[in-house]
Amino acid sequence: MSIQREGGCACGEVRYQLASEPMFIHCCHCLNCQRQTGTAFVVNLLIEADRVQLLGGTAEPIDAPRDDGSVQRIFRCTRCQVALFSEYGRPEVRFVRAGTLDDPTAVTPDVHIFTRSKVAWVTLPEGTPAFEVYYDAKQLWPADSLRRLAALMPARS
Ligand SMILES: [Zn+2]
Ligand SMILES: [Zn+2]
Repeated sequence: MSIQREGGCACGEVRYQLASEPMFIHCCHCLNCQRQTGTAFVVNLLIEADRVQLLGGTAEPIDAPRDDGSVQRIFRCTRCQVALFSEYGRPEVRFVRAGTLDDPTAVTPDVHIFTRSKVAWVTLPEGTPAFEVYYDAKQLWPADSLRRLAALMPARS
C-alpha cells in the first residue's frame, strides 16, 4: 500500500498523485470509451475523488454525451486537453485513466467489462473476470474496497 502512483498530462501542466491504491481497476470495451479515447478500450482506476491529489495545473471538467443520453464528466488539462480522469454520475468516485500514469504498465485490470463491443483482435487474459455488459461489485470487489465504497455512500435508503 506504500506505492506512490503519480501521473499527468502531455504538456506537464497537470500533475497528480494517488493517495492510495485504487479500489478496483476496470478495462472497459464499451463504445463510449472507444469513441472518447479513439482506441479499443480504456483502463480506469476507480478511487475516491479526494484521493486524487492535484500537484499542479488545472483539470477542467467537460461534459461528454454518452449513447444512453447521459453525460460523462471528463477532466482535461486546460492547456494540452489530455483527459486525465472522469466521473460517471457519482462525483465521489474518480475514474483515473491509467494511460496518464507515469508507469501505466504497473497496473493490471481487475475486470473486463462491455466485452460485447470488444474488438476481435484483443484477446483477454485467462483468469481475469470478463462480462458482456457489467457486473455486481459485491461479488467481485475485495472486502476492503467495498468498505471504502460504502463509506462514500452514507445511508442512502
Ligand atoms: Zn497538459
Ligand atoms: Zn466504457
